Order: sequence, then C-alpha cells, then structure tokens
Amino acid sequence: MYNHETLIKQYDNLALITELHGNRGLLWNDVIGFIPFITKKQHQGLVVGDFANYQQLDENSVVIERIKQPFNEMERLNKRGVKQSIVNNLTQIILVVSPEPKPNYLLIDKFILISELMKCQLTIVLNKIDLSVTKIEHELNLYTGLGYELIKISAKTKINEINLIRKLQDHRSVLVGQSGVGKSTITNLLLSSDKIKTRSLSTKSKKGKHTTTATKIHLLNMSTFLTDTPGIENLHPNIHSISDIQKGFVEIYKDNFKCKYRDCSHLNEPSCQVKENVSLNKISEQRYENYKKLISTYL
Ligand code: GDP
Ligand code: ZN
Repeated sequence: MYNHETLIKQYDNLALITELHGNRGLLWNDVIGFIPFITKKQHQGLVVGDFANYQQLDENSVVIERIKQPFNEMERLNKRGVKQSIVNNLTQIILVVSPEPKPNYLLIDKFILISELMKCQLTIVLNKIDLSVTKIEHELNLYTGLGYELIKISAKTKINEINLIRKLQDHRSVLVGQSGVGKSTITNLLLSSDKIKTRSLSTKSKKGKHTTTATKIHLLNMSTFLTDTPGIENLHPNIHSISDIQKGFVEIYKDNFKCKYRDCSHLNEPSCQVKENVSLNKISEQRYENYKKLISTYL
C-alpha cells in the first residue's frame, strides 16, 4: 500500500489532531491522510490542533504515543469558570466584523490582545460589504494604521472570496467575532468552494446547513487548515500582569516612550508619555479606554 518513500516518512509518525471526542479522535498528515485514533490514559490533556507521534495499530487505526509541546493555546473559560484549551498551534486568527451587528470595539481589542499573546497573526475580515460599510471602513482605519491587515468580503453574495482564500493559504486559522457577523456563512462558503480542491470531513447536516458541535479542523488543502469551533464565545486571554495587557496595544507597548517611570502602567503616573499621546490624539482614546477596561476586567 505504501511505497518506500512514504514508509520512511512514516517513521516520523507525526500528525495533526483534527478532532477529539473523549479518548477517540481523528488525526491527519500528508502521508496517511485521516486516521481514527485512541489515546492512552496519560494523554488526557490532548487538544485539537496538537501535533502527536503515533503508532500504527492496523491499517485503520493508530494510538497516540507522544504529544508535542504546543506553540500556543487558545483558551476559554468553561461553564464552571475553569480554563480550557479549545485549539492549539494556531498561526492565524481571522477576526470577522460586519456593519450589522455593529462592532463592539472592546471585544475587538480583546481578540487582538489574545492574538498578540498567542504570537499569532491577526487578520480582520470585514464581511457584508454588500451592505453600507462607509462608517465601519472609516473606523477600521484605526486598525490598519496599527498594522493589522484588512480584507473586505461578502460571504453571502460571494464578493472577494478569493482574497480570503489566499490569506488562509499555508495557515492554521480560526474565525472569531461577534455572533451574527457571518462566521458560519464564511465557513460554509470555504468548505463548499470549488476553489478549494480537497476537503475531508463534511459538517453539513441534512438541511445542508453547516453546524458546529465540537471543535474540528478542516483541511482546505494539504497545507491550509480552518478550525471550526463552538467555543469562541468565552475566549480567555492568558494574562498574568499589566505588561501582558500592554502586548495587545502595539501603540502603547512600544518601548521608546519616555514615561517618567520605566515600569509605568500608563494609568495614574505623572509624566506619562502614553497619556500625553492620548491627549495629542497620537494614540486613539477609544483604544486607551479599552486598555484600561481590559486591565480592570482581568487584573
Ligand atoms: P455567525 O453568528 O457569525 O456564525 O453568523 P452567521 O453566519 O450565522 O450569519 C448571520 C446572518 O448574517 C445570517 O442571516 C447571514 O445570512 C447573514 N450574512 C452572512 N454573510 C453576509 C453577507 O455577506 N451579507 C449580508 N447581507 N448578510 C450576510
Ligand atoms: Zn506611562
């Protein structure tokens, strides 16, 4: 069944965990494709998105041997208020916004903070450009000015779909954003796109509508992955100190500010360059207010 080259490659036996249900799941690599697996007891901490070494039991099943230390973890608080990893090893967060529902900029700044803490690229997707978007386009200039890329699409009327597909290429991405901005419409579009050649697992129900019940990684092509998760409503940034929050605000984090105190929190200290820059409109007041709100929420 396998040629010599694949046998050698298989020796690495490293695969991406794409689904997990209790001690069972599905893993994928470009040699074996998708194969169901079972975990041993000691691997209960396994998370979708992990890379794991496996051993083949038979042609159709494998057992997990070792889990690689994840590069990053996207976490949420579960119903009991306990931190829980939703997906590991993401390389890109796609932040979806729309003119309707209107953006909640505190939530947007929280998503940006999460992406910076995860050392993960963040791309903003303005969906529903078939509607009137002049106001939101103007507001989003703030974020493109900070260096975040913006893509404008309409998932419903399929405008600029290709720009999004290009942006996803070679990444392991997840869509985040407020309820109603069009995340599942976009996911449906991507999974049914004829521009995407391979896809493995269908999440279409009988009605043909996409539903998400458990976190799942879709393969868009051999090097491009899209995480689909119901868990993004309560994302939790992994914050330990005020400097962690500053990481989410590139304009504040820059170390060349000439605050009087080296460890200035930019809240109440005298001679604070950040507050000065806010008053000079060099730093957006809205962003600064959200910086303070995030500090009072998480510290
Ligand atoms: P989600 O909660 O983020 O997953 O959002 P949904 O995908 O469920 O979409 C919410 C609503 O927005 C639905 O009624 C969609 O039909 C609508 N919608 C999604 N994309 C577009 C778009 O590009 N243009 C317009 N006008 N409506 C859209
Ligand atoms: Zn300061």
